[in-house]
Amino acid sequence: MFRRALLAAVPAVALWWAAPASAQGSLNLYCSAQVEWCQAAANAFQRETGIRVSMSQKGSGEVLAQIRAEAQNPRGDVWYGGTGDPHLQAAEDNLSAEYRSPMLDQLHDWAQRQARDSRYRTVGIYAGALGFGFNTELLARRNITPPACWRDLLEPRFRNEIQMANPQSSGTAYVMIATLVQLMGEDPAFEYLRNLHRNINAYPRSGTAPIKAVARGETGVSISFVHDAVTERLGGFPVANAVPCEGTGYEIGSMSIIRGSRNERNARRFYDWALTPAAQALGAETKQFQTPSNRNASVPAEAPQMSQIRLIEYDFARYGTSAERRRLIERWDREVNSLPR
Ligand code: PLP
Repeated sequence: MFRRALLAAVPAVALWWAAPASAQGSLNLYCSAQVEWCQAAANAFQRETGIRVSMSQKGSGEVLAQIRAEAQNPRGDVWYGGTGDPHLQAAEDNLSAEYRSPMLDQLHDWAQRQARDSRYRTVGIYAGALGFGFNTELLARRNITPPACWRDLLEPRFRNEIQMANPQSSGTAYVMIATLVQLMGEDPAFEYLRNLHRNINAYPRSGTAPIKAVARGETGVSISFVHDAVTERLGGFPVANAVPCEGTGYEIGSMSIIRGSRNERNARRFYDWALTPAAQALGAETKQFQTPSNRNASVPAEAPQMSQIRLIEYDFARYGTSAERRRLIERWDREVNSLPR
């Protein structure tokens, strides 16, 4: 009764505008990119299609755990963004659905390879290299020379001065562990991580928390994707970044359709849309400077140039397997996280 009275009061033009949204249905988006980008993508897609989008943002490891917990009764439709390894793990564990987007041909080889490696259950949407962020003013005030190499982070001058995220929740932190294992070999990498533990002041949940702590002057150094340091610098904070002299790993930020999605048609529509140059430009518009996966998308001028960075041959197929990712994270928890500081 109340509803009918209300509808009667709404002018015809507003009803015409409102009709497509409900007619087109809805989409539940789990997003592991930066929240500003997640929100912009949800808003733009809803505006363009009339599909109602509800979005929740969580770290890559957290979304993987959520999708697994909900597997018998899936609530999400698309998992958008976040590091590639947990997306590959979701593919292997049959938590995501196969889909061959007609947009695949437009993507860089590294993004198509991510699709092939997963038997078309995920796809690359951006790439970014791992490195260090640091607060130039804070380090200068404390007379600390900034780090240039992985080995520098073990120096006593960085005692209690470094943050990295917790690899159980953060894909960024897992990329770091997998990178060190590939650079040094597994046992030396874990010895390195145990020694590094002395210099770590916190392992926050989210991969971007350490660089935000650097920006606020709460810690001198973070282990972060270098594009995240650019975001903070452009935000006006005294933040610089370095790429480790020994070489570094990188992420292929990915996207997957959740198996059992209740809105699969809309999920595919979002997936195709998210691979277009226009959708990928939303990253730079929200000050996120990853390298987009569509060959026709413009690379933001501020994005760290991947071709200038000494990148390892990151073995995504191996470090994205369920057994390897689980084993390395458990080993880190047992041998590193449990140590006193
Ligand atoms: N934010 C940005 C800008 C990223 O590039 C990524 C990785 O894809 C993430 C967040 C992922 O966050 P987390 O390490 O918490 O999984």
